[in-house]
Amino acid sequence: MALKIAIDLDGTAFAWPNELGRLAVTLQDALADVFFLTAAAGELPPSERPAEVERRVSQRLGCAVSVKIPVVCCEEREKAQKLRDLGVHIVIDDRPIEGWNGLQLVPLKK
Ligand SMILES: [Mg+2]
Repeated sequence: MALKIAIDLDGTAFAWPNELGRLAVTLQDALADVFFLTAAAGELPPSERPAEVERRVSQRLGCAVSVKIPVVCCEEREKAQKLRDLGVHIVIDDRPIEGWNGLQLVPLKK
């Protein structure tokens, strides 16, 4: 079983684009199952969010990251359930996720 790691975008990977973009790819190369879990682009209809989020990942984290790391969109309030549904072991997110009792790393604000 691969170690599953979810990384938030707004305030997290987008706040530390070089570090967390590279970390995501490095973990993926080490055979972890890494993806971005985000409520970004919430101003758009749900069907349009994934494409917009992928565009933002490519623009801010670079094409190499966007090609390798998949994006999962959900509402902020659905994150804990999504993490459970997807069997995530570790989450990196700038906001403590309500209802999530697993391991969460919260990067300090810049
Ligand atoms: Mg965030």
